Amino acid sequence: MRQRIMFGRFVRGHPRPPVHVPQFGTSCACCNALTTRTQIYRPPIAVPVCDACADHACGHHGTALAIPVVIIGGMLVAAGAAVHDAASWFFLAGCALLAASYPITRAVTARRRRRLPPGHHPNLEIGFSIGATLLDTDNAKLVEDLLARNPDAQLVRSRLPKATLVD
Ligand SMILES: [Zn+2]
Ligand SMILES: [Zn+2]
Repeated sequence: MRQRIMFGRFVRGHPRPPVHVPQFGTSCACCNALTTRTQIYRPPIAVPVCDACADHACGHHGTALAIPVVIIGGMLVAAGAAVHDAASWFFLAGCALLAASYPITRAVTARRRRRLPPGHHPNLEIGFSIGATLLDTDNAKLVEDLLARNPDAQLVRSRLPKATLVD
């Protein structure tokens, strides 16, 4: 089950509050194997991820694939807008490509997920929100560990605004 942990508190009235860095343990955030390896997911946050999980522990797999789609879509939208004709084919094709980028990301992620052996919890996500750090994961053991290590951490109910994966 997808769970969200919030580290720190929202800081209101501060234009650039410092990033709250959670303390991680020494278990892989995906498969819980002991590891000394870490990888930067969202600077400056280093997440413990073992070698085997390096390519699927954090973020979404389809992002690399969707980026060129978004760029081409954006260029087409700009080209359509430049000729002052919102109904031009450029504009419509650009909008269609932009709309397609999100399902592509989700489909690629879901397919990669199904191929992993049991015991993996891929696609950890980290977000920053006015002074607090939010972490979304399916790994119940990681959640337990983070709550024990970070006195200022708490489970929050809300999910990331974008839809999480359906198994
Ligand atoms: Zn691992
Ligand atoms: Zn893994």
